[in-house]
Amino acid sequence: MQTETLKITILGSGTSTGIPVVGCRCATCLSDHPHNQRTRCSALLSYGKYNILIDTSTDLRQQALREDIRHIDAVFYTHSHADHLHGIDDLRGFNLHSRKRIPIYGSEQTLATIRTSFSYIFDKSEPASYIPRLELHPITEVTELFGLKIIPIAMQHGQMDTFGYRCGPFAYLTDCNVIPPSSLEHLEGLEVLILDGLRFTPHSTHFNIPQAIEMAQKIGAKQTLLTHLSHEVDHPVHDQQLPDGVNLAYDGQQFNFSIN
Ligand SMILES: [Zn+2]
Ligand SMILES: [Zn+2]
Ligand SMILES: [Zn+2]
Repeated sequence: MQTETLKITILGSGTSTGIPVVGCRCATCLSDHPHNQRTRCSALLSYGKYNILIDTSTDLRQQALREDIRHIDAVFYTHSHADHLHGIDDLRGFNLHSRKRIPIYGSEQTLATIRTSFSYIFDKSEPASYIPRLELHPITEVTELFGLKIIPIAMQHGQMDTFGYRCGPFAYLTDCNVIPPSSLEHLEGLEVLILDGLRFTPHSTHFNIPQAIEMAQKIGAKQTLLTHLSHEVDHPVHDQQLPDGVNLAYDGQQFNFSIN
């Protein structure tokens, strides 16, 4: 059987404000440590010659320039909150190069919000070069794209339903504070898990770090990286205080897997 490499790049590991937070003078926001510079949450899956983006963060343009992303072949959305969605207009640059529509995948609810929040994209009277050219694909179950199996993982984020995604031995579960037992069944045998771990203090829609550690131990991936980090989290100080197998994610971090 042919083996292909799946490369994951953490494009952004920050919470919705990004770090530093505008106007904040705390130690993390003033830190010049590169792992304390966090853009909004997103990841890139590179499989063979294809690039699959998870979310279009508010910082998509900067992330694409930083990682030298030259094409996007599909986007999978976790949910429709602004920090994960509002870079959608930056997909236009990729359309201009590829001259193709970009397929975007997500729950019915997420795609419905995209249609209403970004109605100009779907307005046929707009000149084509002014708008991103997209194709909407609602998903509920495992989807095979470019030879890669992508499994949506249903989660809760306060009152909102979100999707995480699993591909082979990798799973990306941001923006959640509940992972139901029916979803945990799909998370066995992971090598790397990226998991929401916003901050130390409690939050009503995100796992905090103690809850994320407990969930990481329940899921049992070989390595768990916490993402969507707030300015309460100072990377060089707190990374070394986490249990074995759990670390803080950072922008630009990469992982490679062989997929059969
Ligand atoms: Zn978020
Ligand atoms: Zn701060
Ligand atoms: Zn969210």
